[in-house]
Amino acid sequence: MSGIRGIVGNDFTPEYVTMYSGAYGVFSKRKKIVVGRDSRRSGEMLKNAVIAGLLSVGCEVIDLGIVPTPTVLLNVKELKAEGGIAITASHNPSEWNALKLINKNGEFLSEEEGKILDKIIEKDFERVKWSEIKDVFNDEKGVERHIERIFKLKKINFDAIIKRRFKVVIDCVNGASYFAYPHFLRRLGCDVIELFCEDTGDFRRDPEPVPENLKVLENLVKDTGADIGFATDADGDRLSIVSDRGVAIGEEYTITLALEHWFSKINGTSVVNYSTTSMVDYVAKKYKTVVLRAKVGEANVVRRMKEYNAVIGGEGNGGVILPDIQYTRDAMVGMTLILSLLTESKKTITELISQLPKLFMIKETKHFDNLDERDKFYKRLFEKYSKNADLTDGMKIYYKEGWLHLRKSGTEPIIRFICEGENEKWVTKIIKEAMEA
Ligand code: MG
Repeated sequence: MSGIRGIVGNDFTPEYVTMYSGAYGVFSKRKKIVVGRDSRRSGEMLKNAVIAGLLSVGCEVIDLGIVPTPTVLLNVKELKAEGGIAITASHNPSEWNALKLINKNGEFLSEEEGKILDKIIEKDFERVKWSEIKDVFNDEKGVERHIERIFKLKKINFDAIIKRRFKVVIDCVNGASYFAYPHFLRRLGCDVIELFCEDTGDFRRDPEPVPENLKVLENLVKDTGADIGFATDADGDRLSIVSDRGVAIGEEYTITLALEHWFSKINGTSVVNYSTTSMVDYVAKKYKTVVLRAKVGEANVVRRMKEYNAVIGGEGNGGVILPDIQYTRDAMVGMTLILSLLTESKKTITELISQLPKLFMIKETKHFDNLDERDKFYKRLFEKYSKNADLTDGMKIYYKEGWLHLRKSGTEPIIRFICEGENEKWVTKIIKEAMEA
């Protein structure tokens, strides 16, 4: 995905953001651009910097305010804009911020498009004169447009969901979806209990919606006797579930249950990344279809989904992509599929997951002082594992007990280790061996 990110007040300054947004405005033919942000303290400052850059090259700006990232993407298409910028550092801590760039198809800029943008920056670009500066429109309908679009999904029986009157706890980490998600759940007839649903940008837990960060949500689901708990990250594209028993079941279940539901309604294939749980293959087999794999990263998954005309796709980190709505990870789509599954199956989350194979997954990250150190270590791993590995995306090694996936980060001095299998002891052993190389 193309864009820039950094620590605010350090290397990530409004001057830099204005220049970069100006270049993006030129890339987008100096036309209409949709802007939205998450709730971070630096958000308002950086939004003004983005808008200044866009206006300076003659763009018209639609400002959606604080909205989830998938809502920015959807509105680019709905408003027939030439592009969009989401100002968010997603699951990263408060001091970070970033620009995610969106093309006119409502998808993140590809690597190739990013290169064209880099050329514009290198060559410098012209600003418009004062009389050609366009307007900024504040648009508060962004979330509503997104919700209306989802309500048009023909395969979902919304009336039935509304009739169930689910009791749902929603944890928005005081992030971008603070208003959108509780509001959407109420539209689905739910009795909504809000947790961290303020626009303060004060992340009261680590923004990554992984089980160890969802203790407060777990307790609140238990204490209120809710049917389900939902958690998202700071920009609202990833979705994680807490069961009716108050257990954070892990993000891998989100795409698995979404597939379970969609495959029961539509014939077709799916695409997920190489790190995603094998539970998805089990579900696909049940519906006599297959799940194809793509390299990690939303753009890679989306590209393969289009290639194979997949009816659904996503990533194990809680990302659900439904082409009927849009080609991006969308937590409102995820919540819709899960609540529809609960409605039609008449089962609880606990019952639904008990029907899936019991797999154990460990995800680890090894940090290095610099890229050289990391590459040296990765070379050792390569010597040890590459012979028997699928090398499409790092190294994926298949064993009869499970699999191990080893991947270097594109930008950071880290290596990711992911291992899944039926036996917890085996998984622990394999990952330990790999990390010690
Ligand atoms: Mg995110």
